[in-house]
Amino acid sequence: MRAQPKASHFIDGEYVEDTAGTPFDSVYPATGEVIARLHAATPAIIERAIASAKRAQVEWAAMSPTARGRILKRAAQIMRERNRELSELETLDTGKPIQETIVADPTSGADAFEYFGGVAASALNGEHIPLGGDWAYTKRIPLGVCVGIGAWNYPQQIACWKGAPALICGNAMVFKPSENTPLGALKIAEILIEAGLPKGLYNVIQGDRSTGPQLVNHPDVNKVSLTGSVPTGRKVAEAAAGHLKHVTMELGGKSPMIVFDDADVESAISGAMLGNFYSTGQVCSNGTRVFVQKGIKDKFLTRLKARTEAILIGDPEDEATQMGPVINRAQQEKILAYIEKGKAEGATLVTGGSIPNSVSAEGCYVQPTVFADVTDDMTIAREEIFGPVMCVLDFANEAEVVERANASEFGLAGGVFTADLARAHRMADQIEAGTFWINTYNLCPVEIPFGGVKQSGFGRENSLAAIEHYSELKTVYVAMGKCEAPY
Ligand code: NAD
Repeated sequence: MRAQPKASHFIDGEYVEDTAGTPFDSVYPATGEVIARLHAATPAIIERAIASAKRAQVEWAAMSPTARGRILKRAAQIMRERNRELSELETLDTGKPIQETIVADPTSGADAFEYFGGVAASALNGEHIPLGGDWAYTKRIPLGVCVGIGAWNYPQQIACWKGAPALICGNAMVFKPSENTPLGALKIAEILIEAGLPKGLYNVIQGDRSTGPQLVNHPDVNKVSLTGSVPTGRKVAEAAAGHLKHVTMELGGKSPMIVFDDADVESAISGAMLGNFYSTGQVCSNGTRVFVQKGIKDKFLTRLKARTEAILIGDPEDEATQMGPVINRAQQEKILAYIEKGKAEGATLVTGGSIPNSVSAEGCYVQPTVFADVTDDMTIAREEIFGPVMCVLDFANEAEVVERANASEFGLAGGVFTADLARAHRMADQIEAGTFWINTYNLCPVEIPFGGVKQSGFGRENSLAAIEHYSELKTVYVAMGKCEAPY
């Protein structure tokens, strides 16, 4: 098995196995090849991971933020040096083409280590509050043991986006990757140790939806950050609320991308393709409802069809491949069922709609698919598909499109393509979303906050905003005179 790790879990600075855990296979989605065989965490493994994190966190919190930052920056450096090896692993873990993983996955993880390593020296400062004679000051204190739970689409990035701010604030992290993509996070844990991170501060344990609750409900866990679907988010938030734990919820979306008549059409099509087909459509912030103003509909669809049909689908390990499979057979079947529903409910299939002929039947492939004449009430316009399926909806004017774009339970992201800057900012103002792009789509550099509103979640990852979600304030009041009492 070509991606077999030394053991299933990484705890207290070393690989650990417990064969009493339920065995599961890691499967390469392009061919069905079993690339690793692992075991889900037993209660003993979970206890060991949390106890080691709890032990290690105390000394780590006492170190200067600059010293903590230095270790993270070293980890970023190692990740960049091993970008090829990490990207190849990410491709096997997810089925995403090497053309993508080499520029987007370990690199964005390294960006997070570099950014939080860099801001550590100043971002954790408190405030001095003058009160006349007396005064107060605030300190940023860590939360303790944080749990990170990941989705399958960006396993290495998610492991770093959660780990970097948690660690820099002086916390320890126990990370559980998705059962579909168990491999990348183990490498991140290994690299952090090599960079000098004291053992126990970043532990990785494997498991599925039955393992997650054991972490969330553990009394020694102080914070949970989940990247996953809305139904999982509800369960995790509910369990965490029972213990009044801190939570960050990075959940799903059905984001609107709005293209006005005056837009640069080729640029808008690039945005729509990036926001629907990158990572085979498995991106939470995708602009899956593409609202196109009636005046450019025909031109937009003609060029979109031609460009979509030119996408190179195939072997993810081939540098030329632009689109790989989706994560597994269940997801492939779910996407194909949505496509059938789109046809049955009256949407016009512009291109795609089935399994491509050119690839191995063992792989979990779906053609990049475009539907036009989609209406707001259709299932494909309301539910998150999480696959390469773009819905194009027509609109006439600005007021109408704002109302329709906001008529969704989700609020993760949104975007607009227009030459009219004032209008672009009006849209940014009115569309209910955690992130909004003007004349581009899906760019998420670590410097900018990322997260959702409405059912897409709460809390923010990346940027200085993440510091607030991995630390809390302590206020110290300093009396400069005697304490006076009326009795
Ligand atoms: P999922 O909700 O099925 O699983 C996510 C993770 O939660 C997995 O590790 C899973 O094992 C775990 N889990 C499941 N049930 C749990 C429970 N009751 N308690 C604790 N943990 C539990 O999501 P997925 O299918 O892996 O990923 C796709 C979803 O993730 C999509 O909805 C997508 O939009 C969302 N997503 C969001 C973001 C974001 O940043 N907002 C990023 C990527 C993906």
